[in-house]
Amino acid sequence: MIPMVDLKTQYHNLKGEIDRAVLDALESSQFILGPNVAAFEQEVADYLGANHAVAVASGTDALHLALLAAGVGPGDEVITSTFTFIATAEAVRYLGATPVFVDIDSRTFNIDPALIEQAITPRTKAVIPVHLFGQPAHLKVITEICDRHGLLLIEDCAQSFGAPADGRKTGTYGAAGCYSFFPSKNLGCYGDGGLVVCKTDDMADRLRMLRNHGSRQRYHHDVIGFNSRLDEIQAAILRVKLRRIDEFNEGRRRVASLYNELLWDMVQTPLIDGNGLHVYHQYTVMTNHRELIMAKLAEAGIASAIYYPIPLHRQAVFADDYADAILPVAEHTANRCLSLPIYPEMPEESIRLVADTISEALIGS
Ligand SMILES: *Cc1c(COP(=O)(O)O)cnc(C)c1O
Repeated sequence: MIPMVDLKTQYHNLKGEIDRAVLDALESSQFILGPNVAAFEQEVADYLGANHAVAVASGTDALHLALLAAGVGPGDEVITSTFTFIATAEAVRYLGATPVFVDIDSRTFNIDPALIEQAITPRTKAVIPVHLFGQPAHLKVITEICDRHGLLLIEDCAQSFGAPADGRKTGTYGAAGCYSFFPSKNLGCYGDGGLVVCKTDDMADRLRMLRNHGSRQRYHHDVIGFNSRLDEIQAAILRVKLRRIDEFNEGRRRVASLYNELLWDMVQTPLIDGNGLHVYHQYTVMTNHRELIMAKLAEAGIASAIYYPIPLHRQAVFADDYADAILPVAEHTANRCLSLPIYPEMPEESIRLVADTISEALIGS
């Protein structure tokens, strides 16, 4: 059996440290906004080179609260990729704003920067590039467009923790960078978790208030806020894993580079476009023989997955707004993309078995 991701091996490798961190948190009996969250925020800010880090309850909340704190509201339009997880667009809708979906580059799976400008209208307030599968979007061009049009840049870094672009980490380019610590993400906790990094003191202050019932001082409430806090146990686990994140991401790159070597003449392997260092949250290929390959992998006990089968402009929830829209590259990609097992500890023989099985599937195709 080869799973998409093997969380158990990673836990067993770190078991001594993680168990101790969790037991210490239990013993301290401080469960909400205690010393682990404060320390984790400082450690993440230092690691990413961000001015501020504010931990929240999930990646979806990170996007929601970042957009809210940045002033996105009803009537605003927010440009984002159509080829992403639904949460990117959900956060926009929570605020009564409208997601405007832009097509992608099929080789990087990221928003096509050449198409952003024509999607800008007088109502456009923000752009959310998603560093999909761990590959940094074209931040240089996107930052330049945002600056020229006075738009907010909010990065969805749920899949790109630690990925550098031009010497800086993704998430530190825009007004805010939003992270998820869902268990299977590159940096994952053992439940839900998320975080926002931001540039200004004012934005950090608003985020801290919004995540905690609109309160700066206990039982004094300035605005309607939310209950959206990372808990101490998750923060304690994340502090242990944060110390290994470069090692984890390097492990993923090792797996990807062997896949590239073995698969380049069988499927379209991920393009490295030079906008930054890919951290392979997913290893996603393109193929015209997806069903054939998936069936053969399943037969051999190897997991594979389609991220994502339906672009957001084709989702039922957005059908009314996008009935006639055709975003051809995303649609082409959704029909051919295939994600293969990848995790930092993946053994070489497993990588070779995946490649051999794909090769068998394609013989005579
Ligand atoms: C996982 C993910 C999210 C949401 O994160 P949660 O922690 O699950 O709420 C948002 N955007 C993208 C691109 C993701 O992959």
